[in-house]
Amino acid sequence: MSNLADNLTGTASRHPDEPALRLQDVTLTFQQFDDLASRAAGRMAALGITPGDRVGLMLPNVLEFPVLFYGALRLGAIVVPMNPLLKGREIAHYTGDSGMSLLWAHPSVSDEDTGQAADGCRVEQVGPGLLASLADADPAPAVAKAAEDTAVILYTSGTTGTPKGAELTHGGLDRNVRICMDDLMSIGPGDVIVGCLPLFHVFGLTCGLNTAVAAGAMLTLVPRFDPVAVLEVMARDRATIFQGVPTMYTALANVPDADPTAVAALRVCTSGGASLPAEVLRSFEEKFGARVLEGYGLSETSPVASFNRQDQARVGSIGTPIPGVEFRVVGEDGADVPTGEIGEIWIRGHNIMKGYWNRPEATAEAIDDEGWFKSGDMGRVDEDGFYYIVDRKKELIIRGGFNVYPKEIEEVLYEHPAVREAAVIGLPHETHGEEVGAAVSLQPGAEVSEDEIRQYVKERVAPYKYPRVVWFLDDLPKGATGKILKRAIEKPVGTPS
Ligand code: AMP
Repeated sequence: MSNLADNLTGTASRHPDEPALRLQDVTLTFQQFDDLASRAAGRMAALGITPGDRVGLMLPNVLEFPVLFYGALRLGAIVVPMNPLLKGREIAHYTGDSGMSLLWAHPSVSDEDTGQAADGCRVEQVGPGLLASLADADPAPAVAKAAEDTAVILYTSGTTGTPKGAELTHGGLDRNVRICMDDLMSIGPGDVIVGCLPLFHVFGLTCGLNTAVAAGAMLTLVPRFDPVAVLEVMARDRATIFQGVPTMYTALANVPDADPTAVAALRVCTSGGASLPAEVLRSFEEKFGARVLEGYGLSETSPVASFNRQDQARVGSIGTPIPGVEFRVVGEDGADVPTGEIGEIWIRGHNIMKGYWNRPEATAEAIDDEGWFKSGDMGRVDEDGFYYIVDRKKELIIRGGFNVYPKEIEEVLYEHPAVREAAVIGLPHETHGEEVGAAVSLQPGAEVSEDEIRQYVKERVAPYKYPRVVWFLDDLPKGATGKILKRAIEKPVGTPS
């Protein structure tokens, strides 16, 4: 096996003049991108970086991200992508835990914050002149890598605990990229992917950047998601592929007066990272006339673990496992539950991380002796082998001994015409243990009361499930990718914390 970075060199030799990356009015061809990456590798070698060293990238979606990413991989280093919004304490953790030698930081990150990088970690600012300055660096050849060598360490915390570094390998990432390219999106030169998912997150990194590179497609970068700006970029670059999390689909479907003919080149849209409510999918497809295919995965699974194929998609399902990957649905006793019943989804295959960096105990908890990774997501499988996520294990609400899966209630809430976004969470309750609560943001100009929303759900679900407490927020808090952050939702006044 070779280095994941060989995908760039291969594409550059086959399609040197095809556009590879675009940001605003700057476009790099594959040849320019490959040349810059090999000089970036040379620059890092000159800074003393050697194969296996950890190199941090703390950048938004700017051209320097792909160049430094492929440069570091070429050199055989392990890349640690980081959110540029992280603060000093977090930087101390990421740099210290990974034993990072070099951190490339965006100028928006303050010196005070980068000053907390661990001892021995050199910080380089990625200023506006960096790409031009690479012309002076000597190109470096690619270092050979084995399939099981770590390429990327992605820090992930789930909903609790300090972030742990999931080690993703050259081979695992490459297989995932090829599946995205051939089976999921069927893309090649001439395709244009909208890059608004952050590249420091696994979804944008694998399905966006690395897939575009292997396929010879162009990635048109959008540094910060804004639905109107995304539609403009789609129209300008005649984008054929859009990838997003469900809140992005909601935002795009709600852009007033959007002209669907401007984005007529759009061919495939993929959704992942969180459950896509059926109503959101319907309204987006109706408005833009493009198919939305839902996939499922985690940072620990490179990320794609299952998806809906273009020729056999089922709304509400996360599809079927990708080629070479197996799923089980497992009960509390560790045995498979019968078809149709709910259990934890376990995943095994080439896409599973090697482990959590330097955390043998956490790794042993997550992956059993037979290689099954316990996803922490509850789901079921139907007679035809299609899987459905009912919710995260940790987000299950137990009200008076009854299980309430928030996703089921959220689906109903999204059907209400006044609801823009909804999140159902458990609130502490003296006698029931937990009570079902729904935080809702409304469509602009909608007039509805909390009680009407409560009644709407009450009429449609079993009595123990409907939200007794409904409260309105202007906006629901989102994480870096745009996923709704349930733990950051402001609770109604008087709720014990
Ligand atoms: P991350 O590691 O940040 O990519 O988050 C992974 C988590 O996102 C999974 O454990 C799921 O809870 C959630 N997720 C991803 N895709 C889907 C999907 N299609 N439906 C429901 N949840 C999803």
